[in-house]
Amino acid sequence: MEERAYLDPAQQASNTGDMDSESFRAYGHQIVDWIADYLAHVGEYPVLAQTAPGDIRHALPAQPPTGPEAMETILADFERVLMPGITHWNSPGFMAYFGITGSGPGILGEMLASALNVNAMLWRTSPAATELEQVTLDWLRQMLGLPNPLFGVINDTASSGVLYALAAAREAIPDLQIRQRGMSGRLEVPCLRYYASQEAHSSVEKAGIVLGVGQAGLRKIGVDPEFRMDVAQLEQAIQEDIAAGWLPFAVVATVGTTSTTSVDPVPQIADICERYGLWLHVDGAYGGSAAIDPSMRWVLAGCERADTIIVNPHKWLFTPIDCSVFFTRKPDVVKAAFSLVPEYLRNSESAGDEVPNLMDYGTSLGRRFRSLKLWMIMRYFGQEGLAARISEHNRLGQLVAGWIDASEEFERMAPTPFSTVCFRAHPQGMDDEEQLDALNERIMNRINAAGHFFLSHTKLHGKFTIRIAIGNVRTTEQHIRHLWGELQEALTQEIAQ
Ligand code: PLP
Repeated sequence: MEERAYLDPAQQASNTGDMDSESFRAYGHQIVDWIADYLAHVGEYPVLAQTAPGDIRHALPAQPPTGPEAMETILADFERVLMPGITHWNSPGFMAYFGITGSGPGILGEMLASALNVNAMLWRTSPAATELEQVTLDWLRQMLGLPNPLFGVINDTASSGVLYALAAAREAIPDLQIRQRGMSGRLEVPCLRYYASQEAHSSVEKAGIVLGVGQAGLRKIGVDPEFRMDVAQLEQAIQEDIAAGWLPFAVVATVGTTSTTSVDPVPQIADICERYGLWLHVDGAYGGSAAIDPSMRWVLAGCERADTIIVNPHKWLFTPIDCSVFFTRKPDVVKAAFSLVPEYLRNSESAGDEVPNLMDYGTSLGRRFRSLKLWMIMRYFGQEGLAARISEHNRLGQLVAGWIDASEEFERMAPTPFSTVCFRAHPQGMDDEEQLDALNERIMNRINAAGHFFLSHTKLHGKFTIRIAIGNVRTTEQHIRHLWGELQEALTQEIAQ
């Protein structure tokens, strides 16, 4: 950005007000121009920040500024000091973890939300924020083919959401009154147990830590050869636990697991939950969004029977972080788990059921106007536009999977139900697992160091596995072909060494 170091009127010593509107307008135009150029050229940056730990911190003053600094100087430092330390999640070459992107309408929605700066803790603290959240999430419900009614609320992350879901599940246990009386020191409270597959996200286990159920309270269930929860093992585990005096209370099924994107058999898991009276939470943080594409509706089969479901628009719905949607068929139970209204928040609207106070559905009081960006994205692209983008990502994923399957040097390590491909190099004649792990780690590091792509890994059956996660709105077939070329070249170079 161009540097013109002078202070604004608001920065003079006698001024105690905000930046004046003309200065705001000028910087705002400058920043929007910068964003537009950044997004147009984001593919030209090294995807993974090429900095060493501490580089950015050491480039910044240790002391806070005492007097005002010119906005030009601040923006120049943003570019000079901070930009080199940015890993570009917006890049079409970002295929690590889960490829995600903010999109133009989402970024603009975020700007408006930040300008309004409303806190939607109560309906009255911004009726539009509460009501738009309800309407937008009902649209999302319809786009996903989920049944009516389903109450929705937006949280920062799926990690918060699973904590809230399991707190609601604990609240639904009859008679124990854990909300009121806690668990410690109560001999009449049996040890609680919940279940998830060994492939479930770590946030599922963390929720047990926070809820006082403990890591021992989560029983991890084995998976079938396609990394889906083994339902027979689930039922056997529940029966064993009941016989041993545990109190089973919930099951977490995952639609799109973090390592391989496997889809747990939700209809069969729902049968078991009904049989044993357990709360069913579905973690569709990644895979849930795929159901917007009508040909992918199958991924949410059985979810109409879930008590709570999470879908993260900040993963695969082009929504800037953060935006995690929490749906429930049992808002009363979630509210019973969390609602606590001190005098200073008491209001006449909370008496009836006409409008919710969103603070009642989790631990946070304050909440950002997150629905605005999602609403703008849904309207800007429409269901068809969103479905077309997801479908294209899935096509690209299948294309890479096909190249790997046809190759004699690489092998796929898991099925590819969506657009995330798990694979490794396995040159003919090299069968030592330690050697293969080391080779694949070196290949991945070589790709990441080259700067065009960023890939991450997992371990499947103990084997180092590289993942290509396609979910970025800018990723095209050309990028995928380029990556495939780099992977083959990296293997050739590693073998030659
Ligand atoms: N669930 C799954 C399946 C995930 O893959 C992830 C993150 O990748 C999460 C939950 C956690 O998401 P969040 O970052 O919104 O807490």
